[in-house]
Amino acid sequence: MKYINKKLTIEKIEIENIARKFNTPAYCYSYKKLRDNIKNFKSSFKSFSPLICFSLKSNTNLNLIREIKKFGLGADVVSMGELMMALKAGINPNKIVFSGVGKTTSEIDFAINKNIFLINAESKSEIIEIDRIAKLKKKQVQIGIRLNPNTDAKTLNQISTGKKENKFGVNDKTFNELVKFCINSKYINLKCLSVHIGSQILDHKPYEKMLKIISKIIKKINYNFEFIDLGGGMGISYKNNSKKLNYKKYDIAIKKFLKNHRCKIIFEPGRSIVGNTGFLISRVIYIKNNAGKKFIILDAAMNDLIRPALYGATHNILPSSKISKRSKKIYEFVGPICETTDKFLTIKNFQDLKEKDLVVLCDVGAYGMSLSSNYNLRPKPVELLIKGSKIKILKKRQKHKDLM
Ligand SMILES: *Cc1c(COP(=O)(O)O)cnc(C)c1O
Repeated sequence: MKYINKKLTIEKIEIENIARKFNTPAYCYSYKKLRDNIKNFKSSFKSFSPLICFSLKSNTNLNLIREIKKFGLGADVVSMGELMMALKAGINPNKIVFSGVGKTTSEIDFAINKNIFLINAESKSEIIEIDRIAKLKKKQVQIGIRLNPNTDAKTLNQISTGKKENKFGVNDKTFNELVKFCINSKYINLKCLSVHIGSQILDHKPYEKMLKIISKIIKKINYNFEFIDLGGGMGISYKNNSKKLNYKKYDIAIKKFLKNHRCKIIFEPGRSIVGNTGFLISRVIYIKNNAGKKFIILDAAMNDLIRPALYGATHNILPSSKISKRSKKIYEFVGPICETTDKFLTIKNFQDLKEKDLVVLCDVGAYGMSLSSNYNLRPKPVELLIKGSKIKILKKRQKHKDLM
């Protein structure tokens, strides 16, 4: 995305043209960016050719997943809905892993029927349930056990998952016990140790620490895991060239780990594949002055993009047309929803904006549309794929009649 003759352009299409044709708010994804992210991810870790399972919860658009599938990626799913969506997108069950702390009996049943690659179990009760269902089906089921490595991912508290006080995974003592349970079960084939310590991780050191802990545990229990699933969490840059995770350093740490352990690596990236591919185009409905601020009231709201309200996340906002005149007022970009937290960004020195102007919220490809809702009975926005000078509808805008 860049300015060409002062007009903000995605690949070869001006934002203004997209808005004119498809209305606002509109989610757009850049195909080129998606392809570059996947290529870059693959080449960064190519020496050990990991199985890369796209984490569906970051973006569950069927047609986008189909594009991702074409690059050979598998899927990481956390519910029956996501599992069905991955299968519908044509992802090979042999490349699907199922994570989550609360898989129900029917979800486990469905996963076993579909012969997916791995169910990553997160508790003793869950493993007992998998064993019970597998026995009824007289079928062997491949599982992983999710370890809680008690590692601080140094990310936002709300998206940290690998500390002992978090609900995810099991501690090392329980892990040991569960490995023994699996060895004694006829119906469970324990293939994998899995971890996922959090999301938007910018520093490679928590990953290094996590690898050391895994290494120690594997040596101690002396079980040969065919796969180690390192989860996702690779952080991206949300503000102009701010820090992102250094893949090279993570790669070095993994290679070091693999010198001592013969196993195949699985990754479950979500954000790092789709985060910076997405843009949300929105129109300024009204501008009003209050308390020395200018409220820029957009037609996009927290139901379309909840990350700022949910985690205090920051998304850059860009005007669709560049002008040099700056506003001296503080701008507060808000949505029309009846909640004070329906607020995207407070910023100084933004360029002068007028009512009906277009702006773009950046880097919304992950946890944008997938976390959207119909709050205030607002229909969900259209989703578009931009590929060079072509626009493809990934999903149509919801209509009010769909909500009645
Ligand atoms: C959310 C999640 C991921 C993906 O995390 P990203 O930060 O989007 O890469 C991977 N694995 C599990 C188990 C998850 O819950």
